[in-house]
Amino acid sequence: MSDIRFDGRVAIVTGAGGGLGRCHALELARRGAKVVINDLGASMDGSGGSSEAAEAVVKEIEAMGGEAMANGSSVADEAGVKKMIDDTMEKWGRIDILIANAGILRDKSFSKMTIQDIDLVLAVHLRGTFLPVHAAWNIMKEQNYGRIVVTTSSTGLYGNFGQANYGGGKLGVVGMMNTLKIEGAKNDIKVNAVCPVAATRMTEGLMPPEALEQLKPEYVTPGVMNLVKDDAPTGMILSAGAGAFSMARIVETRGAYVGQGDELTAEAVAAKWDEITDTSKTLPAFTSGGQHGANMFSLVAEGKGQ
Ligand code: NAD
Repeated sequence: MSDIRFDGRVAIVTGAGGGLGRCHALELARRGAKVVINDLGASMDGSGGSSEAAEAVVKEIEAMGGEAMANGSSVADEAGVKKMIDDTMEKWGRIDILIANAGILRDKSFSKMTIQDIDLVLAVHLRGTFLPVHAAWNIMKEQNYGRIVVTTSSTGLYGNFGQANYGGGKLGVVGMMNTLKIEGAKNDIKVNAVCPVAATRMTEGLMPPEALEQLKPEYVTPGVMNLVKDDAPTGMILSAGAGAFSMARIVETRGAYVGQGDELTAEAVAAKWDEITDTSKTLPAFTSGGQHGANMFSLVAEGKGQ
């Protein structure tokens, strides 16, 4: 296995003042990348802000002989994100890697969740992923090179009590990835998602101490390095935590053709429910929406005996 190196590469990591983002940034720098350390320095619910967290990580990187610059913009602020991209281009002239990692929580059961709780969490996770990726996209296209990682969550993929706002944002970024992996393909832009589990201030108190001890954020980062290396995959959701890794996929059952015209009633669908939901006939994951449509029409053709 050859070493994974990022010499000559320029990376941006959002929310890199602490937790997972800091670990990703330090590892990129250790492996030769110049790194922009973005962090608003906000509290966990998104309030407040100071550039100290980002500056402290820049100092850590400089102390190990690496190159880094701090950026204190909110990822949800269009002008701030544009300036971050402009400053990066002015200083280093390219953007090879973007890890969208910044995040906040406003957990509440849905009946108690306010519209502000929804707006703020979606702003940081969804808008706050779209804005930097959008601002870097055409630069990566012109370079014919880009590696993007979005940060999803088991809450977005599977659900968690009290996190409807967060889960919506976290699956939203996977939706963005699914299309960008297609649009970026001809310009060697690879777009992947990491689904981490780590002991950070976000998960403090949520798990027993024995579990938290094994969930070092540093144990997620080696997986992320594989999503941004030269021969990275694309469109992959990599689950990572405690040194264990797996791949998450959205899959469909083969399904069933029920009918068309008068024969297609709610009762006719109910009569075929077992076949429609038969997970023993789960298909390999589709890699585009077109494949979803193709399966549908092949069911129709089969059902009609064509
Ligand atoms: P963390 O709170 O330690 O780190 C998040 C960082 O984002 C903080 O440094 C914070 O200041 C920064 N931030 C918040 N709002 C910002 C904004 N508007 N602009 C720029 N920076 C901002 O939490 P973490 O656990 O390291 O989380 C990192 C990412 O991983 C998040 O997207 C989180 O949702 C995701 N995640 C974490 C876990 C886990 O188990 N820790 C699980 C699933 C997903």
